[in-house]
Formats: sequence, C-alpha cells, structure tokens
Amino acid sequence: MKHFTLKELIRSATAQRLGINNTPPASAVKALHALVDNVLDPLRDAWGGPIWVNSGYRCAELNRLVGGTPYSQHQKGEAADITVGSRSANRRLLALIKRLDLPVDQCIDEKGCRWIHVSHRKGRNRRLYMKF
Ligand SMILES: [Zn+2]
Repeated sequence: MKHFTLKELIRSATAQRLGINNTPPASAVKALHALVDNVLDPLRDAWGGPIWVNSGYRCAELNRLVGGTPYSQHQKGEAADITVGSRSANRRLLALIKRLDLPVDQCIDEKGCRWIHVSHRKGRNRRLYMKF
C-alpha cells in the first residue's frame, strides 16, 4: 500500500447517506491490500499522476443499493472502480493496464470509459478485458 489508503477503498457516499455500515471483514481487507499491491500501486507508478477510486469494497447491502451484480467482486474487496478524470484519459489508462499486463482478473470499460473496473483475486487472474 503505497499510493492508496484503505479508507478511500472503503468509503461510500451512498453508505454514509443511508447509514449503512460498510466496514469490511478481515478477508476483504486482505483482498484490498492485494488489489493495491498487485494492480493499483504499479498502475499509479506507471501512470505518474493521481488515480481516483469511485468505489472499492461494498458490503452486500451497499452493493445491492448501487445496482452491483449479485456476485460482484466489490463484495469481496477484490475490485475497484477507478478514474483519472475524463473518458479520454481513462482510455489511455486502460491502454496502459493492457500494456503493463497487470494481473487483473477482470478489467471493464464501463459506459464508454466513464470509469474502469479492475479486479484482482487470489490464485489465477484471468485478464478478461470487457466492455459494458
Ligand atoms: Zn466495479
């Protein structure tokens, strides 16, 4: 954990507004650390500028409320939605993720690169690149 804090991977405006306790279990904290160490920090180093996390860990209730898929890796602390500020910059970020061949399980271009979903898990990471 070099460039990212646990706090920014857990905080949620929706959870705050609705009084949902989004405190992750130990297993999810461990997964968030692995996500940062293997994907987010190396990406941040190569990118050379700030990368913002829109959404990281989500408890089941929060995940449901924000319309996450039922088996979303956000619920395990394995995923983060990131942005560098604009669609065009996010496209460059996505190209960089591919070029660095980071150990992503899924990397999703969301809504024309409005944000990028990246995940990392223990074991084999599939490097699945998708568009939604
Ligand atoms: Zn996501």
